[in-house]
Amino acid sequence: MKMKRILLLGGTGDALRIARQLGAEHVYSLAGLGKVPDDLACSVRVGGFGGSEGMARYIEGEDIGLVLDATHPYAAQISANAAQASRAARVPYWALRRPAWQPQDGDDWRMVGDWTELTDALAPFRKPLFTLGREPLAHLDEIPPHQFWTVRCLDAHEDTPRARILAARGPFTLEGERALFALQAFDVVVSKNSGGNATEAKLEVARERGLPVVMLRRPELPAADREFERVADLLEALQAAD
Ligand code: NAP
Repeated sequence: MKMKRILLLGGTGDALRIARQLGAEHVYSLAGLGKVPDDLACSVRVGGFGGSEGMARYIEGEDIGLVLDATHPYAAQISANAAQASRAARVPYWALRRPAWQPQDGDDWRMVGDWTELTDALAPFRKPLFTLGREPLAHLDEIPPHQFWTVRCLDAHEDTPRARILAARGPFTLEGERALFALQAFDVVVSKNSGGNATEAKLEVARERGLPVVMLRRPELPAADREFERVADLLEALQAAD
């Protein structure tokens, strides 16, 4: 792929799929929290830019001609920074905006906006499975006496008498999720509405078992010059712009 120099903002499986199609002149950028691939043709940079101003300086200094935002839908800060920096540096800002999962007939989704609403919604339950990242690890000393938490996230962390921490990285299969749910007898699932296939199986199993899902609402994301729902459509647009 020739085209102008791309700055691809990633940290998701979709972003990695895009990065694999980029040639040596392009840059794949990661925050540095997860795995850093070492088998890409494009260059990889790791770490923050120093806010939107830092990113605008980077865009200008590195002669970037297009910013491609394929970050996670809950990574709202980097998307806001990218939109602002692209505007300031006068380069187009394209974004992959993965569609949210939709509840199906019979699903019991309880939408919450923040941690306080989330813990209120969890009050009636005893064995929640948290699948929304590391945030619960900061609240392990606030677990109500009637609850035992299972927290699945990327970070390794010691179990406590009141919580089990499962360090795991998706994708998660339906069979694997069925086995986990059968073993642990969760009575509620806590999730972000990430969309995509990689982590959707837990919702399928919650449906099979009639479990409620406490769902953290998606944050507002900035408008992009072009938005795509699927990696394939984005790659096609890049090829057309070549
Ligand atoms: P965030 O709150 O939107 O961003 C926090 C800061 O991290 C940004 O201001 C930026 O620092 C830096 N940053 C984030 N993404 C970056 C990137 N791709 N390249 C360079 N710097 C980046 O993001 P977050 O929620 O902490 O997520 C961090 C990363 O993990 C993101 O890349 C995201 O795609 C990935 N991820 C997030 C989630 C989630 O649920 N939030 C789930 C899966 C993967 P500066 O301001 O210094 O530039």
